[in-house]
Amino acid sequence: MSDQLLRKTLRAIDVVPSRELGQNFLVDEEFSKWIVDQLDPQPEDVIVEIGPGTGALSRHLVGRCRKLILIEKDRRLAEFLRGEFVDSSEVEVIHADAITYDKRPLFLEGPIKLIGNLPYSAATPIMRNFLEQPTPVVRAVLMLQKEVAERLVAVPSTKAYGKLGLRVQAEWHVDLVRTAGPECFHPRPKVDSSIVVLQARQAGELSYFSKRLFDDLTNRGFAQRRKLLKKNLSLKAEEWSGLVSRLQCSDSARAEELSLPQWVELCNARDDHPVLDLPEDSSAEIFDVVDEQDQVLRQATRAEVHSEGWRHRAVHIFVLDKKGNLYLQKRSALKDRHAGQWDSSAAGHLDAGETYEAAAQRELYEELMVKARSVDGGEALQEIARIEACEQTGWEFVRLYSCEVSGKIRTHGREIECGAYFPMELVRQWVDKRPQDFAPGFIECLRRFDSNDD
Ligand code: SAM
Repeated sequence: MSDQLLRKTLRAIDVVPSRELGQNFLVDEEFSKWIVDQLDPQPEDVIVEIGPGTGALSRHLVGRCRKLILIEKDRRLAEFLRGEFVDSSEVEVIHADAITYDKRPLFLEGPIKLIGNLPYSAATPIMRNFLEQPTPVVRAVLMLQKEVAERLVAVPSTKAYGKLGLRVQAEWHVDLVRTAGPECFHPRPKVDSSIVVLQARQAGELSYFSKRLFDDLTNRGFAQRRKLLKKNLSLKAEEWSGLVSRLQCSDSARAEELSLPQWVELCNARDDHPVLDLPEDSSAEIFDVVDEQDQVLRQATRAEVHSEGWRHRAVHIFVLDKKGNLYLQKRSALKDRHAGQWDSSAAGHLDAGETYEAAAQRELYEELMVKARSVDGGEALQEIARIEACEQTGWEFVRLYSCEVSGKIRTHGREIECGAYFPMELVRQWVDKRPQDFAPGFIECLRRFDSNDD
């Protein structure tokens, strides 16, 4: 849209560009098309655009993807866009604030591509909402204030390097691909803008770590940039000297000197997550092999039980919050089975000689670092179902429990890539629409959970 046409359109819909809403509209048609091309739209893609405004980018996306979802906070612009794209059935306009928009229903669409010329005023919280795990977004092209874009791609020992860049780089490959001056927009902003392309990291590219601890340590590490890292983290001398040799950093290192892999290493060195005490190769674990009545026959290794298809025992636990939302975990790419699929809140095999209930408590702690909590004085773990060993369960006799938990769930990337609470109804719709996203044992457990509710 030319500068002239844009002004005419804004007048017609009674919009005076608002600074608060970061309304600097693109007026360079060629440039708009170039930005959209960086997203590499494909006919099967579902694309979400944040802050479409008068449609400068949206116009170049229509007809190039399966579905285009436009999220605009300004009601007048959202209405205008509905009129503009009334004949394009693939376009859905949502009048909402992208900072608080609930992105969980987007999982039903499969992998998502994200684009936006983001409002300066809200770019960081919008990025946090859409890019932090768990997210269905796999690629993003975002226009940001140049200074923010530079922080996203910053390298160690530079002024721009800090926790924002580290957190984004821990999940994404980020490239700053072009910078544009104020003349590309109406009204003209006071500063330059840059476009960044973000591509989700492949699982396993970095060592696995706990995201919550990473956020906590980078927060504390960068709290006072000029201070030594050991001071910011309040570390004792001997603890710090162990870290210096493990991280191969200098004794006087500041937060800004540590590279991303060093931060990940620091995180794992400071982590007390129980999963780190378990051997990485679990094939030698000993299970009870059972008969058709779930009676113990003998013991065998995990590797044998799985390769021979012998019946054995497992638990699944559905952790629910007070509103009845279900915590789902995304299995790590390291798992020998169903890697990268969504699964019950916690699940695992019984060790030889272990009871189902003890295994459920152990798995809750090993995977999520929480304990089942008794609600209204009842049992902490509610038994929901007993599932016979069958092909669907991988020849496991499964006991399904549900519970609420005390304390905050803390996962580690070695077992669980990410996790979140999801409304039950959304989970059911997601399973119906995209069963391939889920471990088959979970689908069976959900079916039994629902029939138990009837
Ligand atoms: N994409 C259009 C373009 O390039 O011309 C407009 C970009 S303008 C920089 C930012 C847009 O985001 C505006 O349309 C503004 O109304 C919208 N916006 C501002 N805050 C928002 C928020 N929290 N959620 C969704 N949209 C928002």
